[in-house]
Amino acid sequence: LVTRANKLVIGNWKMNGSMESNHALLDGVLVGLEQAGCKAVVAVCSPFPYLAQVAGLLKGTAVSWGAQDVSAHGQGAYTGEVSAAMLSEFGCRWAIVGHSERRAMHQESAQLVADKAEAAATVGLTPVFCVGETLAEREADRVQSVIAAQLAPLFAKGDDLVARTVVAYEPVWAIGTGKTASPEQAQQVHGFIRAQLPASAKSIPLLYGGSVKPDNAATLFAMDDIDGGLIGGAALVAKDFVAIAAA
Ligand code: PGA
Repeated sequence: LVTRANKLVIGNWKMNGSMESNHALLDGVLVGLEQAGCKAVVAVCSPFPYLAQVAGLLKGTAVSWGAQDVSAHGQGAYTGEVSAAMLSEFGCRWAIVGHSERRAMHQESAQLVADKAEAAATVGLTPVFCVGETLAEREADRVQSVIAAQLAPLFAKGDDLVARTVVAYEPVWAIGTGKTASPEQAQQVHGFIRAQLPASAKSIPLLYGGSVKPDNAATLFAMDDIDGGLIGGAALVAKDFVAIAAA
């Protein structure tokens, strides 16, 4: 089980990278983390085609890896989908599910996202379950109800699954925009999420994501219920990702 005992920093490369740039990035990350004496648990989530390359580069190191999505189905006629068992064969430890870009651009429902989390956990992967409100929802004072609705189908699957999940709070208005939630704003939501968790899952890591950078990471990670981060843009620059992990 992954718990909040250690900070957890996960890079989400999104649809970026190449064989050449991945190699350089991971070399830089491995050397940088070593030099920084980083104590956080660190992982990267690459596009599917690079998982074999990433596995080759990270095997035997302190950095684990995962995917940015996973199918809710086991196997069969699902063209274009990738199953959790396949990810597992490539040594993945993590699978992001329900990233806001997938909820918005691929019409993923809250139920589908929970099904994906379950599929991942069934083969021993840790789902990184993303939630977060849009700006309009925040302005309409609907943050808690939106997040509660995103979490509901996960909770409905039982405490055991929740206890094996990482939840990432990523306000949609902060993703890739350079606008970060203030540490207090983020803590408020993290505290709310923690309060909703079943008793047996109280100590799962709650990550913050949305324009985390080297200069704001430490203040965010210092908040009571922020156990690390899910990092997009800054995860593509070795020195920035290392600085965030070291924070
Ligand atoms: P960002 O992305 O750090 O570039 O804002 C975070 C995410 O979408 O996971």
